[in-house]
Amino acid sequence: MLKRSIYFDNAATTPLLPEVKGAMTEAMEVFGNPASIHAEGRRSKVFLEECRTRVASVLGLQPAEVFFTSGGTESLQTILLSALRDLNIKRIVTTSLEHPAVLKNLESLRELFPFDLVHAPFDRFGRVDTDALDELLAGQPQTLVVLMHANNETGMLLPVKRVASICQQHNALFLSDTVQTVGKYRIDFSEGIDFAAASAHKFHGPKGVGLLMVKGGAGLKPLILGGGQERTMRSGTENLIGVAGMVKALELADEALEKAMPHVETLRQSMLTGLTNLFDNLKVLTLMEHSLYTILNVGFPVQRVGEMLVNRLDMEGIAVSGGSACASGVNHPSHVLEGLSVEEHYVHARFSFSRLNTMEEVERCLGVMRNIYS
Ligand code: PLP
Repeated sequence: MLKRSIYFDNAATTPLLPEVKGAMTEAMEVFGNPASIHAEGRRSKVFLEECRTRVASVLGLQPAEVFFTSGGTESLQTILLSALRDLNIKRIVTTSLEHPAVLKNLESLRELFPFDLVHAPFDRFGRVDTDALDELLAGQPQTLVVLMHANNETGMLLPVKRVASICQQHNALFLSDTVQTVGKYRIDFSEGIDFAAASAHKFHGPKGVGLLMVKGGAGLKPLILGGGQERTMRSGTENLIGVAGMVKALELADEALEKAMPHVETLRQSMLTGLTNLFDNLKVLTLMEHSLYTILNVGFPVQRVGEMLVNRLDMEGIAVSGGSACASGVNHPSHVLEGLSVEEHYVHARFSFSRLNTMEEVERCLGVMRNIYS
């Protein structure tokens, strides 16, 4: 297997930290089923509830507002399904730029439940028009607003406080997909987000474990039924090892935040400055001052870098993501690039950074880009 020398695809997933691996290895000793009444079971139950309290304390939530799931997709699906089935939601306001975990689920739920699906307008960078949202919600009870905190392809950030206050004003419920932002910001869940989701592997935790966050209980009911674990919100014997890794990763991310934010923002800025100094005609899709500090999405003219930019970088040991805007049939634009009507004949690369990246890596990547760009 090719050894990755530079990993700039942290929006896809992040490497597991050694401390997280350590916490997971320790948790392997806690093997009892938390539902069992004997000492081993009780030990696991105590361990699980300690993990919940630790997560809640980092996120400023009550332990009762935190549920462990298999990840962002499951958490989002639980919320969407239950909102329509149990909370009498008749209208969902969202955008076409959400993650497929939202869009595909909404598509499928439309076959099961009668509800109006309304798309809020956004500008060419994907910024939601909050005045239009305000108008869309006026006089429309039983509405759920589904807007992601940060877009995973462009990094575009939602003004969560403003959206939450608009939702509160109109008595709408607000689900924010916080999969890209938990562990990257101190999100204030007291400011009106009703439901949120997270995935541990986005903040240097393990894959296949995540969070469903429900402010104040809000009457949500489960997607997965069975033994009644997670106070009946999510059945299935709990993934103790995964949860232990997630909690450790979240605590480490939180502790590192003060230093990580300026460090990663400097890397991102340097990449952008380097690219714009080197090349003409770039299309920068990420609006720097309104975006998650870990993501930079740039379009390069296809005649200069070729359609296979991501593969060429990969051959040089640099991992980034694509989402080509080419209409040649070789690469299909992602729904986000398509939704933002990016120009044809541009190949987009998403560079996404973490606190483990270095300036030296940015410089090496710029050197490789200089060789590719002809
Ligand atoms: N939402 C966003 C914004 C994401 O970036 C992702 C993963 O890429 C998901 C939801 C789904 O998360 P998972 O695949 O971990 O279930």
